[in-house]
Amino acid sequence: MKIPIMDLGFQYRQLKDDIDNAIKEIAQASRFVLGKETRDFERDMANYCGVKYAVGVASGTDALILSLTALGIKDGDEVITTPFTFMATAEAISRVGAKPVFVDIDPRTYNIDPAKIKKAVTPRAKAIIAVHLYGNPCDMDDISKIAKQYKLKVIEDAAQAIGATYKGRKIGSFGDAGCLSFFPSKNLGAFGDAGMVLTGNKHIAEELRLLRVHGSVSKYRHTVIGFNSRLDNIQAAILSIKLRKLDAWTEKRIKLAGRYDSTLKGIAATPRVQDGGKHVYHLYIIRVKQAERDKLLGLLNENGIESRVYYPVPLHLQECYKGLGHRDGDLPEAETAALETLALPLFPELGIKEQNYVIEKVREFLK
Ligand SMILES: *Cc1c(COP(=O)(O)O)cnc(C)c1O
Repeated sequence: MKIPIMDLGFQYRQLKDDIDNAIKEIAQASRFVLGKETRDFERDMANYCGVKYAVGVASGTDALILSLTALGIKDGDEVITTPFTFMATAEAISRVGAKPVFVDIDPRTYNIDPAKIKKAVTPRAKAIIAVHLYGNPCDMDDISKIAKQYKLKVIEDAAQAIGATYKGRKIGSFGDAGCLSFFPSKNLGAFGDAGMVLTGNKHIAEELRLLRVHGSVSKYRHTVIGFNSRLDNIQAAILSIKLRKLDAWTEKRIKLAGRYDSTLKGIAATPRVQDGGKHVYHLYIIRVKQAERDKLLGLLNENGIESRVYYPVPLHLQECYKGLGHRDGDLPEAETAALETLALPLFPELGIKEQNYVIEKVREFLK
């Protein structure tokens, strides 16, 4: 049996007529950038996430860069974040000239450990980027408390967590800015790159709208130095159509995760959901002994089951961050997680028969 780690084709086939028609209409009207489709999608997303403003941008990475810029983070500032995330989180901090300060993770949730943040705060610290990794919400109560105490801005990297909640409230609505990615493989995926910033602050929303169009207030009048970072109408139209299905898809992810949980409990560490949180399982991660991880990966792949490691090298040990002077052992929880975790196939359309085959192979190896 061949089982991919995710399958993007299903969703297109499910919605083919609506999507084809939407693309055709936009092509015929030839209005491609920042038009009605983008405004409608921004309105729908603001409603969905329970925020006042949603600003479409070109990618999740740009959502982070524009958010940091709009919040005034610049050269010489420090931004606290997790080393156990996709590169884009730290890259955005570096791109605005600030320095990423990596704080170790809670080994149970894989998210930044709020108890370790205080020690990392210096007079240069200006913000925290909280990453809701794999779709599991961060402890937003503790993070918000620390941010308030030290006057730090909070940016949520919710690229993997659209639809997740913490204490009943949607992820992305807690920080000064919440960043979403609609990269094709994300829970709500476009047909190319796309992203969005959520905020409850009118001033920040206005700044973001300026920044994404070259800092221009009106044609050829530029008040700040901006970017070219827009969400285009074709992506917005596709995303609007898919958004209607998102909650149903998320429920399927949660059901499948529950089946992995109950069948693998006791033989591998299964995901620990943040207290008060609703996990949306962008990825389903299990944890085994370091000596077994790569063998299990090999066995699954030999049996046609696609399994991968997210992420094999924590960011503080990446070559591009040599300059920060970190060494092996500096952030032990992130380093160990990178050696002991792997993702099993999980996507809303994964069949029970297919999932049972994955479970059987994992159990065969670990028992
Ligand atoms: C995907 C992702 C991003 C970047 O999003 P893009 O749309 O690919 O630029 C940022 N952070 C995390 C945690 C991600 O998973």
